[in-house]
Order: sequence, then C-alpha cells, then structure tokens
Amino acid sequence: MRIFVASLATETNTFAPIPTDLRSFAPTYYKPGTAPAAATMNTAVMVVARRLAAEQGHTLVEGSCAWADPAGIVGRATYETLRDEILDQLRAAMPVDVILFGLHGAMVAHGYDDCEGDLMARARRIAPNAVIGGEIDPHTHLSDTMVQSADFIVAFKEFPHTDFLARAEDLAALCLAKASGEINPVPCVWDMRHIGGFMTGREPGRSFVDRMLAMEGRDGIRSISAIHGFTAADVYDVGSKMLVYADDRAKGEALAEKLGREQLAWGQGANPVHLKTAEAVTDALATEGGPVVLADRWDNPGGGVAGDSTFLIEELLKYPDVPAAVGALWDAQAVAFCIAAGPGAVMPLRFGGKAAATSGNPIDAVVTVRAVTDDLRIPFEQSEVSLGAAAAISIGNLDVVLASGRAQTFSPPVFTNLGIDLSKKKIVVVKSSNHFFAAFAPIAAKITYVDCGGPYPPDAAKIPYTKIRRPISPLDANPWLFPRND
Ligand SMILES: [Zn+2]
Repeated sequence: MRIFVASLATETNTFAPIPTDLRSFAPTYYKPGTAPAAATMNTAVMVVARRLAAEQGHTLVEGSCAWADPAGIVGRATYETLRDEILDQLRAAMPVDVILFGLHGAMVAHGYDDCEGDLMARARRIAPNAVIGGEIDPHTHLSDTMVQSADFIVAFKEFPHTDFLARAEDLAALCLAKASGEINPVPCVWDMRHIGGFMTGREPGRSFVDRMLAMEGRDGIRSISAIHGFTAADVYDVGSKMLVYADDRAKGEALAEKLGREQLAWGQGANPVHLKTAEAVTDALATEGGPVVLADRWDNPGGGVAGDSTFLIEELLKYPDVPAAVGALWDAQAVAFCIAAGPGAVMPLRFGGKAAATSGNPIDAVVTVRAVTDDLRIPFEQSEVSLGAAAAISIGNLDVVLASGRAQTFSPPVFTNLGIDLSKKKIVVVKSSNHFFAAFAPIAAKITYVDCGGPYPPDAAKIPYTKIRRPISPLDANPWLFPRND
C-alpha cells in the first residue's frame, strides 16, 4: 500500500483573546520526515504509520505536521498556508491508497468554521478513491462534512487523553483493512443535541469507555467514538455526538442512539462538583494531610485561554502561613525580568492578570527569585511539553512558577524541575482542567476542581452562541428527553 500521512491541529476557543498565527505553530511544526519519533496527540498517526510501513512493507509518504497550542481563532492566511502545503504534498504523492490525518476537530479559522471538514473534503477531491482516516480529539465539532469526506474518524476515548497512540493504531488498522477490501462499514452519527462531555477517570465515564472498547471489533461494530464536543466555540456543530462505524447501518444507528441516550441520562452526574475560589482554599485547609491539588479548571491553557488568572493566588496570599505552590502562570514579561535579575534576587514584581478582564488583577509583591530556566520541559504521557523560559518565585510560603509558554500543568516537574518540593506543600494549584490528573493523583491527598469564574466560559447556558443549531441543551430543553408534540 501507498500511505500518505500529515497533521494539522489546534483547538480553537473562539472567545479567547489570543489570535493564532504561523508563529503559534512554529515550535511544533515539522517538515516532512522530521516529526519526532515520540508520539504526541497530533503526530501519533505518523508514528504508527512509520511502524506499519517498516513492518508490513508499505510505502510511506510523510507530509508536514503542525500543532499550535489551544488559543483564539486561527488567521485565514495561516490556515490556508498550512492546509495548501499539505494538499500540495498529497498531490505530489498521488496515487495513494490510504491517507491518515492527525487532526483536532475543533480548529476554527477566520472564514472556516470547520477546518477539518474543509481539509478532508479537499483531500477527497484530490484522492477520490483513497481511504481517508482522521484521528481527532473528542473535544471536537463533528460535522457532516468531516464524516462524509472521511472513511474513518476515530476520537481519543480517554479524557485525560492518555490513549492517543492506541487510537492511532485503531485508525490505521481500520483504514488498511478497508483499503485491502476486508471491511466496508458505514458511519452512523447520533447528535445528542447536548453541550456536555465527561471525564473518564471516574464513573460513569470509566465504565462507558470500557464498554465501548469491548464492543469494538465484534458483531459488525468496527469503531465507536464518543464526541464530547468543545464548548468554547461559536460554530454550528458545537456539542456531543456519538459516531459508530458498523457493517450494518440499522445496527450502527441503533447503537449510536443507545450510547447517546445513556449519556443524556447521566445529567450532571458525570462531572465533578466545582468549588468557588475561597471555598476551595478553606476546604483544602480543613483536609487532613497534603498536598491538596486545586485544579484551576477554567483558566486552563489547554482550553485556549491565557492561563494567567490570579484569583487563587490572591486567595492564598490571605494565608501567609500556609505552604503552597501555584503553576504555571503565563507571563513572559515577568519571566524575562526574573531571568535578568537571576536566582536569589529579591525585587518588586508585577505578574499575572494581564490577558483579559477575566484574568483578575495583576499581583504586585516583593518576590524572591528561586530558580530560572531557558526551557521548562515536562512529561505528558509519551510526549514532552515545553513551557519555554520559566522562573520560580516565592512570596513567603507561596511559590509560583511563571512560564513564558502557554501549556497545561500536565505533571509535577512543572514545579520539581525548578526545585519546588511538593511534599512540603499544603496546597498545590495547577492550571489544567483534567490532563494533570494522572500525574498528580499519586502525590495528592485530595484533588478539587475550582471554578474561579473564567476566563473559559464555565456555564454553557450563558455563552453567547450565534451559530449553534437549536434546540440544544442546556440552552433549550433537550429535544430527545423532552420532545415537543406541536
Ligand atoms: Zn481534548
């Protein structure tokens, strides 16, 4: 077989104040043949294709791989440049049997509400007879264009997304099986008409994912993806859907509906309780042992927002005796000041609270610079993530990690690489919604999700959507649960 693989991915929060341009893609942009051997969420398809080509004797043509950390709307020229580069590579690679794309599914550019649908539809026109597969994040706006243009779309099942490599294996196996004529299933989509999503480390999400995995490959069910949807985007296809590939359409459609209705029946039970800022801190102080990890869920750079809000820092400064750590706060300017001053420096510093009104106030304090680095690198599953130049500062018992790059606080090395001992802390604040969980759970006495009020819109019912299809819950009564009779 002749296989073409490429990747173009970012998650766009259309309400975020940080535009996405070619410079946003630059740190993780790879020309053909240069993508690293270690898989990341968007390059997992590349890593799998290389292995299959080597083991099974396929011819692999590598295209470009581009990822930008989640932020605001992508510039039109930026998207078209990256898209056309990949499509030109595909044209040059023709004829191909299989096309694999590492995508996100929630990329929005000026002029393109559905970048993935646009990319795959154009690839389809170039290669009408190829089998096209896309690996996506479940935080996706699954569109008809995407489903119709691709032969297979496979989403990560786990949230946190610990299974991007396994799902890339699934996608490649499905595409190769179809290209060799072994299978020919049809896509079945059930639109839940709901803005929701769930976590898979807790019930009922955990058992749900385990059952999806158990059903795949049996009774003509080839693949099942639960599309959680990505709330922070004003596009038509926002929301949760079920996507099933089945040999028999009626069977696939029935399963997609059954699994969708099951999620609708969970209500709010699938997600954890969120404490408000002050409440979260007093709750942590009342907890035996430590550290208590507070997840600043709605200031998570992984959701496209800045990651520079100061609400929890302001709250912790009211408790000067409590040993605490906060990381990583996005503030490139403050990092530059700390690096210039050097470790040991004691100086007045203004940091955080800059990107948006919902970031809170900047903190003004006399700080001690504890450590600095030109590149703070931390592990996330099989990949390594850079937070760029970074500094650890302290205000009494409170340590704060400042970073010049925007990335989630995936793992404890955000702190420990800068010499902060988390075992001595009562409270540790992480800027992450859920991806921190696997790495922090082993060291946490307790994990609490905190709602500091933004800047990521925490309540879907209050988001000023203009393009979304209606009815959809929680904006409307869910039409499946409360059908209208008029
Ligand atoms: Zn995601």
